[in-house]
Amino acid sequence: MHLEETTLQLLKDSLKQLDSGFAALPAISENPTSPQDPRLAAVMVEVASKLKDNYPYFHPLYAGQMLKPPHPIARAAYALATWINPNNHALDGGRASSALEKEAVAQIAAMFGWQQHLGHLCGGGTMANLEALWVAGQLHPGKKIVASDQSHYTHKRISAVLQLPFAQVPTDNCGRMDTSALEKMLAVGDVGCVVATEGTTGSGSVDPLPEILRLRERYGFLLHVDAAYGGYFALASNLVTETRASFDSIGRADSIVIDPHKHGLQPYGCGCVLFRDPQVGAIYKHESPYTYFTSSDLHLGEISLECSRPGASAVALWATQRLLPLVRGGEFAAMLEASREAAVRFAERLAGDAHWMLPFVPELDIIVWAPRAKTVAEISALSQRIFDAAAKQNLHLALIRVPLRFFAAQRNLTGAPEDAVLCLRSVLMKPEHRDWLDRIWKILSKVADGVLPGPSPNR
Ligand SMILES: *Cc1c(COP(=O)(O)O)cnc(C)c1O
Repeated sequence: MHLEETTLQLLKDSLKQLDSGFAALPAISENPTSPQDPRLAAVMVEVASKLKDNYPYFHPLYAGQMLKPPHPIARAAYALATWINPNNHALDGGRASSALEKEAVAQIAAMFGWQQHLGHLCGGGTMANLEALWVAGQLHPGKKIVASDQSHYTHKRISAVLQLPFAQVPTDNCGRMDTSALEKMLAVGDVGCVVATEGTTGSGSVDPLPEILRLRERYGFLLHVDAAYGGYFALASNLVTETRASFDSIGRADSIVIDPHKHGLQPYGCGCVLFRDPQVGAIYKHESPYTYFTSSDLHLGEISLECSRPGASAVALWATQRLLPLVRGGEFAAMLEASREAAVRFAERLAGDAHWMLPFVPELDIIVWAPRAKTVAEISALSQRIFDAAAKQNLHLALIRVPLRFFAAQRNLTGAPEDAVLCLRSVLMKPEHRDWLDRIWKILSKVADGVLPGPSPNR
C-alpha cells in the first residue's frame, strides 16, 4: 500500500468519542441509507477507480507543482468534523470549530510576532488576498495597488474585480521586486498598497522587505504581504541572510496572507488572512437579516467576506498545529528545513553539471532550471522533451516560462531579456524529497543523457 491508512483507525476511535457527547439524546433509527446497501460499496469502488487518473502527488517522485498530501491528523480531523459538519460563519452553526479557528489563527499570527490581530480562515490564497486588497481599497479608495511582475496573477485580477488601478513593479534577475523601480512609482503619489510576495509561486523568490519598509517610512502606503506559499518558512533555520531578513520583517506588514493548504499540511480549502489592526473589522460591518446571532461573542462571519465556511478546515488545522506546533526548532520547522535543504542540494548538483543552466540559487524550496542551449527556442524545446521523458520514468517535474534575463549570468545566450523561455521547475515541498534526491537525480541524469547533446563532466 502506497497511500497511508492510519487515518482510518484514528477516525473510527475518535468518532466513538465524539458520539458520546450526544449520549443524552433519544436514540434515532438507523441512517436512511444503510451501509449494507450494496450500491454504496459499488459507487465507492467506482470513485476510487476514477481517482486513479491522477499524478502521484503523495510520492517523492512527484517533484512538480505545488502539491503535497495533508498530514494524516488533518485528514482524520477534517473527516471527523464532517460528521457534525459545522459552519464557521456564525457561532450558532459552529461553536466548537469557531473556537478552534480563533486559536489556530492566533497561533499563525504569533508565528509572525503578532500578539494581537484580526484574522480568519477562508477558501484559499485567492480569497485571502481578495479580502486584504478589498480592505486596502476601503482604506485608500481609488489608489493604486502594485505588485511585482512575478507576483501571483491573482493580484491583477482581484484589483480588476475591486475596480482598483493596478500596476506591475519590475523584478531583478532573481525574480525579486526591484525596489528602485518601486520607488519611482511611489514618487508619483498614487500608490495606496504595495503587495510584497514572500515566496513567489513560480520560483520562490522573496521580495526584499527591509528595503520596502524603508520606502514605506518615506512614502507611506499599506503593505500587504502575500506569503501564501512561503509564509511557513518564517520557522526555518536554514534561509540565507537576505531571505531571513525579509521573513523577520513580515510582522511589520499591515496584512498577511498565508495558505495552510500549501505548506501547512492541510487539505485544499484552507487559506488565512491576517490584519495587524483589529479596527479593520469595522469595514466588514453588515446587517444580515439571515444570520441570527445568539451570542455577542465574535462570529467569524462578521469579519469575513465569505459566508458559509467549512468548520472542518479549522478543526483540521487546529489538530495539526496541536500535534506540530508552529515553533522554530520544532518538528514542523524541521520539515520545511528538509524541503529547503533538498532544493539547495539539488541546485548544487545542477550548477556542477554541464547539461544544465541554473538561473539563481533558490531562496526557498522551489527550483527552476533549464537544459543548456543557446536560443529560447532550443532551451524551450529541450525543457519540454526532458519533462515528457522524465514523466515516462515516473519522475514528475513541472514547466515554467520565465524571462530570459533570469539567465543573465550565462554567456552566449541569444534573445531579448524579456523573451519568455520554457524551463523546468520542481517544488520540493515534501520533506522526503531530501532523502530521495539521489534517486531523483539519477533518473533526471539518465533522461538528460537520452535527450541532451554532449557529455556531462560531473558524473
Ligand atoms: C498559491 C498562491 C496564491 C493563490 O492562492 P490559492 O490558495 O491557490 O487560491 C496567491 N499568492 C501566492 C504567492 C501563491 O503562491
